[in-house]
Amino acid sequence: ASERLYLGMDFGTSGARYALIDKQGTIHAEGKREYPNYMKEDSLDWALSWKTTLFSLLEDVPVHLRPLVSSISLDGTSATTLIIDSKTGEPLARPYLYNESCPDALPLVKSIAPINHTVCSGSSTLCKLVSWWNNDDSDKKSTMLLHQADWLLWLLHGQLGVSDYNNALKVGYDPEADSYPDWLLSQPYAQLLPTVKAPGTSIGHLKGDIRTQFGTTDSIAAFLAARATKPGKAVTSLGSTLAIKLLSTTRIEDARYGVYSHRLDDKWLVGGASNTGGAVLKENFSDEQLEKLSEHINPMEASPLDYYPLKSVGERFPVANLKMEPRLHPRPESDVEYLHGILESIARIEAKAYMLLKDLGATQVDEVFTAGGGAKNDKWTKIRERVLSLPVSRATQTEAAYGAALLALKGFQ
Ligand code: ADP
Repeated sequence: ASERLYLGMDFGTSGARYALIDKQGTIHAEGKREYPNYMKEDSLDWALSWKTTLFSLLEDVPVHLRPLVSSISLDGTSATTLIIDSKTGEPLARPYLYNESCPDALPLVKSIAPINHTVCSGSSTLCKLVSWWNNDDSDKKSTMLLHQADWLLWLLHGQLGVSDYNNALKVGYDPEADSYPDWLLSQPYAQLLPTVKAPGTSIGHLKGDIRTQFGTTDSIAAFLAARATKPGKAVTSLGSTLAIKLLSTTRIEDARYGVYSHRLDDKWLVGGASNTGGAVLKENFSDEQLEKLSEHINPMEASPLDYYPLKSVGERFPVANLKMEPRLHPRPESDVEYLHGILESIARIEAKAYMLLKDLGATQVDEVFTAGGGAKNDKWTKIRERVLSLPVSRATQTEAAYGAALLALKGFQ
């Protein structure tokens, strides 16, 4: 049997994974690697760690399956940025990581970008670019900006300077007009910006006829994995924090809440992230306790406890209040009741989050798939169904690597 296979790779925060699927979406092989700790001048050489991991993962693909790989797609963490030498592709500075903030660039970025634009956040790719541009006094003639996924894909296909519109969103690319806006192109550092294509477009060929596809971001890949392909379908991720993503026919954006839309073909993937979530559960209960206590919860009964579970002060979505205090009182004597109150309160925040997206103009949600550690809690799922008044189920696939593999498959067809 010489069935074609499609390879997806996900470069996360601590390591990378791969998934190899056929056209039915069945997994033929998968695996993961932690990033090795390569040091350079007292700090971690991230670029080398990613590069080494990329080739380790390729070697991990079983030898007998390798000839069947038809295309490769890869995702990286959004807003992880490299400034490279545009002749050699070598990084000129250490990479800026996804969560790194460059507040020094914020006033300038705010003065050129439209109000509440996605780039108006210290951790946006544009703030990283501007910060580097203003602080680095090396010769900037042959320099180029690439996202983590762009750079790793370059190692495979050899075409320097291409990105996709999911990764380029946070540098200011307009996925609706399909171009960089004039306010950005008129800046002196615009020469560093990569060319942008649709995610999943074929960019080049490896040896043989393996196609390398454009990449995307980790959160897009995780959404693709759930196969929520119709407007109104959503994925709630119940990890340390609560994140929601909804497929919408309309594009919405509101920096006050950190809400923005990624383009997915002719639709929009709208999302927001709350600071509530499993981190508070983890502070109070072990995973075993969570399971045991949940067994005793009656999900059909509404808990009267009204909490706002947060690990630390401050919330952004669905309530924009950087000074919001965690609210976890009164604590009842019964741990079952306490847990019920927390789960119910997080469900109410989730409902409010979907309501806010609708108020901001997104397609109304009609079904929710769940990812993350909280997805395995059936009682919580039932509570959420009642509070959201929607069908809620666990997503069958949630690995971003699987989503990237689906993108490789889609790009091939
Ligand atoms: P991360 O965002 O860190 O990747 P995960 O998706 O791995 O998080 O989920 C971990 C979270 O899931 C923890 O905060 C933990 O408290 C929570 N969790 C684990 N088991 C359960 C359970 N049975 N019910 C609800 N939450 C759970």
